[in-house]
Amino acid sequence: MHMKELNSPSHIGIIGMGVMGKSLALNMVDNGIPVAVFNRYVAGKEENIASDFVKENSNFPLLAGYDDLESFLDALGTPKKILLMIPAGEAVDLQIKQLLPKLKKGDILIDGGNSFYEDSNIRADALRKKGIHFIPMGVSGGEEGARKGPSIMPGGDEIAYELVAPYLSKIAAKDKKGSPCVTYVGPQGAGHFIKMVHNSIEYGEMQAIAETTHLMRYGLKLSPPEIAKVFRSWQGEGLKSYLLEITADIMEVKENNDFLIDKILDQAGQKGTGSWSLLTAIKFHVPYSPLAEAVSARQLSAQKLKRTELSRDYNHRFRAFSEDKVLILERLKNAYTLCRIINHETGFSLMKAASDQMQWHLNFSEIARIWTNGCIIRSTLMEELIEIFKQTDEILKDKSIIHKAKECRSDLSYIVGMGLQHDFALPVMSASINYLLGRIINHSSSNIIQAQRDYFGAHTYLRNDDPDNIPRHTDWISFK
Ligand code: NAP
Repeated sequence: MHMKELNSPSHIGIIGMGVMGKSLALNMVDNGIPVAVFNRYVAGKEENIASDFVKENSNFPLLAGYDDLESFLDALGTPKKILLMIPAGEAVDLQIKQLLPKLKKGDILIDGGNSFYEDSNIRADALRKKGIHFIPMGVSGGEEGARKGPSIMPGGDEIAYELVAPYLSKIAAKDKKGSPCVTYVGPQGAGHFIKMVHNSIEYGEMQAIAETTHLMRYGLKLSPPEIAKVFRSWQGEGLKSYLLEITADIMEVKENNDFLIDKILDQAGQKGTGSWSLLTAIKFHVPYSPLAEAVSARQLSAQKLKRTELSRDYNHRFRAFSEDKVLILERLKNAYTLCRIINHETGFSLMKAASDQMQWHLNFSEIARIWTNGCIIRSTLMEELIEIFKQTDEILKDKSIIHKAKECRSDLSYIVGMGLQHDFALPVMSASINYLLGRIINHSSSNIIQAQRDYFGAHTYLRNDDPDNIPRHTDWISFK
């Protein structure tokens, strides 16, 4: 059914009227862009989703809804610009297959979902051969971001990007200088790649804040509102971030006499982007332990029944800290400060490895810039990274980071040590101090590993006093 003739042709068409598709559509019409929307019909399920959505939003004259694909496509101007906001995987391939016979050379397809970048690479190649422009595009900010201004990470076909850039710039969040939080990030699936890493940093940040909160709650015996107060004070001390802000809000929500947080089952969900980054880090040989631990922590959390049983077998309970509360809070702040830097360092180092190997020429300063607003990992650290990446591609090489890391290192070690001794699980915090030490130790323990490998497998080793790097083998057994 065709709901409105008013604004034909629509400038952009959106397929997928889920949370994100609807919010982006409203954001666009709010910004003066005529939009056509479409949602598939599945027998036995809700009918006329698109036209009903338009009816519910009759105050937006630029919005047109179609419940059949042909009319939806007919309503779009030339070249057609179609944004898919549907689940990653098979759904995207099926939708593209259905659209292809109806598209002409030069039409533009944008995949705004969380597709795996390798799938996007394949789709980009296949669509280019058919003359269809393809823009795999990351979108961050959740429902609210999509409605009011997300951070947008488009990649793929750069010529086509120029045609949609004016629209994306209108709907994107704005950075501190008023520039839109959107930039062309790189060819192929680069947009989906960096969205995947974004989500991975998000996993790490969420887990680091969860660990910090737990230490305050059960180690320091702070109440949720007291924790909220601490987080709010940290916001003013250089640690401002969206995730810290919403955690403070969460701590204050009550349900009758109880705190809502205490009623929420400790079983975290995940949709896959965290695990994808982990697999990708392995593929690119990038050490990823802090962010990998955040994925494992969610997996462990899912084993609720087993945990409950084992916690009885092992008599597990958190033990409160006896040290001075004010001092511990100061150390905890420094520990979190460094952990947050390491989380970002890990994510950006994966992007650097991919960029180098795939020759994507990612601009990390620009990526940091488009992540300063609209997205879930916006923070003052991200703002600092804009300038840092203008000087170096490596966060750990920056002078201000070296200074901060030196200042906070012993506190992160102290907090991790104390937390473990009091039976707290601190996967991301402990992985981040181990990662840092792993990166900065000159004489590592790997000489032992090489000797062991040579002993049992004759894998050879290099000597540190041989400038020619000649592989050696020792007959270790002859020394027994
Ligand atoms: P959603 O609320 O579950 O909506 C998904 C939409 O896709 C629905 O309209 C659904 O239609 C449609 N759909 C499902 N399978 C389809 C298929 N095989 N062919 C065509 N359409 C199909 O999802 P969402 O939260 O809006 O997310 C959409 C995409 O954006 C996903 O890739 C998601 O990962 C990504 N994303 C989500 C967020 C977020 O915070 N939610 C943030 C960034 C990116 P039916 O109603 O008929 O099933």
